[in-house]
Amino acid sequence: MIALFRRSCGVLRSLSRFDWRSQHTKTALQREPGSGFSFEFTEQQKEIQATARKFAREEIIPVAAEYDKTGEYPVPLIKKAWELGLMNTHIPESCGGLGLGTFDSCLITEELAYGCTGVQTAIEANSLGQMPVIIAGNDQQQKKYLGRMTEEPLMCAYCVTEPVAGSDVAGIKTKAEKKGDEYIINGQKMWITNGGKANWYFLLARSDPDPKAPAGKAFTGFIVEADTPGIQIGRKELNMGQRCSDTRGIVFEDVRVPKENVLIGEGAGFKIAMGAFDKTRPPHQGISFLLAEMAMKVELARLSYQRAAWEVDSGHRNTYYASIAKAYAGDIANQLASDAVQVFGGNGFNTEYPVEKLMRDAKIYQIYEGTAQIQRLIIAREHIGRYKK
Ligand SMILES: Cc1cc2nc3c(=O)[nH]c(=O)nc-3n(C[C@H](O)[C@H](O)[C@H](O)COP(=O)(O)OP(=O)(O)OC[C@H]3O[C@@H](n4cnc5c(N)ncnc54)[C@H](O)[C@@H]3O)c2cc1C
Repeated sequence: MIALFRRSCGVLRSLSRFDWRSQHTKTALQREPGSGFSFEFTEQQKEIQATARKFAREEIIPVAAEYDKTGEYPVPLIKKAWELGLMNTHIPESCGGLGLGTFDSCLITEELAYGCTGVQTAIEANSLGQMPVIIAGNDQQQKKYLGRMTEEPLMCAYCVTEPVAGSDVAGIKTKAEKKGDEYIINGQKMWITNGGKANWYFLLARSDPDPKAPAGKAFTGFIVEADTPGIQIGRKELNMGQRCSDTRGIVFEDVRVPKENVLIGEGAGFKIAMGAFDKTRPPHQGISFLLAEMAMKVELARLSYQRAAWEVDSGHRNTYYASIAKAYAGDIANQLASDAVQVFGGNGFNTEYPVEKLMRDAKIYQIYEGTAQIQRLIIAREHIGRYKK
């Protein structure tokens, strides 16, 4: 079986050299005349999807319930996913990665989520941690921090939320003070996925002490090595669902970060932190359910993430579509998981049956990466904005 997977991995890696990826990264105007909108996957996309599906069916599903019970971090699955090229899919080819677009990465994410959303979140948190470096890192930063993740199965994390600042990102209190060629970081982060497993963090901190400074100027994004002195990692949180994913608080006390690790420059952090979400929100399609009466909602949720992914791969600003996909698919995952429990009656409520896990795991899609309410605020703002022009 491993040999088969290795072959598939070879397939994924060799595919990356062909121009199949560009079909989803060309702007609409560059497309072949008459090609228009197509729901047909390319042969290569079908292969990518099949590899991820096979991995979900043969590797994740048989052990998902056990990981849910023990809450253990799924190291062997992460290693296999890494070998197959099913994680870190956005890392550019210049750093040794596959450089997949959002659409193709979403195809993989959907299959991993079908296997177990806890495993998928642990894997997907790498994309969230990497995204600020992909969109804003200079050549040296990308080669150093993304490059090492293509050499071995390392994890990274996105450190933005704090105990008193979640939806209100501009309310974060972690401070970054410049002293010579370094910044000194002090503060506390909370709910950080892969917090205890990461090799490095993307960290957002307030670098302008003036409370009146606008968000667009007050914050700076840093890359922080996880073994820097002064970092204290908290206990693993015991969550309702996605229990094998590692979620922790992290304290930063006089943590020294070289100025070379600033992304773009002082004050650019807020835009970078939010920009990452446009690429990482589309994958939250949730879980595939097979019951017929649920199929319509699944299809619409799938279309919403594919539209969001297609927009960003085509070079368009996709904030509106990314928020629609995140809000709609997150709600649908919750409705359907609850319906699935209902279909099973009393058994559905019992841990001997798999559906109660789906319901517990689905809830987080309405909370992390911007709650369901915050997505609606963004959608309304973007929608009204279109008619103001
Ligand atoms: C398992 C897990 C993993 C996570 N992983 C990460 C991670 O890797 N990195 C990271 O930085 N963060 C992470 N988070 C944090 C997550 O992004 C926040 O929990 C989320 O943004 C909500 O913030 P909060 O918990 O402070 O809730 P709050 O922001 O306090 O929200 C509470 C309620 O108020 C509502 N609300 C808040 N503001 C408004 C408003 N303006 N209008 C309408 N309603 C509003 C919300 O929708 C929600 O219903 C994770 C959280 C969890 C639970």
